[in-house]
Amino acid sequence: MEFSSKLLENAVYEMSQLPGIGKRTALRLVLHLLKQPKEQTARLAEALVNLKDNIKFCKNCHNISDVEVCEICSNPRRDESVVCVVEDIRDVMAIENTGQFQGLYHVLGGKISPMEGVGPQDLTIFSLVDKAKQGKINELIFALSSTMEGDTTNFYIYKQLDGLGIKTSTIARGIAVGDELEYADEVTLGRSILNRIPFENSLKV
Ligand SMILES: [Zn+2]
Repeated sequence: MEFSSKLLENAVYEMSQLPGIGKRTALRLVLHLLKQPKEQTARLAEALVNLKDNIKFCKNCHNISDVEVCEICSNPRRDESVVCVVEDIRDVMAIENTGQFQGLYHVLGGKISPMEGVGPQDLTIFSLVDKAKQGKINELIFALSSTMEGDTTNFYIYKQLDGLGIKTSTIARGIAVGDELEYADEVTLGRSILNRIPFENSLKV
């Protein structure tokens, strides 16, 4: 792509670093911003910088939060002995939308993926195992997408909990293999949490 302006080229380059944004889309977005009032672009830039500067991760569940302990973890009506293990905040939002889950979450921040160089130490697994060892958890519900990475992650955590006497279950799969949780409709997702099955039963022999 040949640019008549270095400023334009820089803006397009930075925009194209976002996932799913190719050079053409980046150019379209940048040209769109160029047509907007300056204040709008300033607000966008400010919102992004503010986000990076001020965002916190809940000390307990690692969900994105504006405060030290998120609203879900600090809600006394939630059952802290039941913990749902998810990949990221999108899954928390999807499950919250179903209104069917009254426990807490644990946000892993990804899935174990040797192909992408993501190991257990890159996720919040050790903090989850710590919580489990402190006897705070009675039941752990695995709600990762059922891809190979999701299965590997579930199994890794399951092995770490060996001997702690924690009930482990996995959400029932009304959801096709490989589907991401956030795309599942609320009714299906809600039902798959209610009809969760013991984790052992989900293991392929
Ligand atoms: Zn939290």
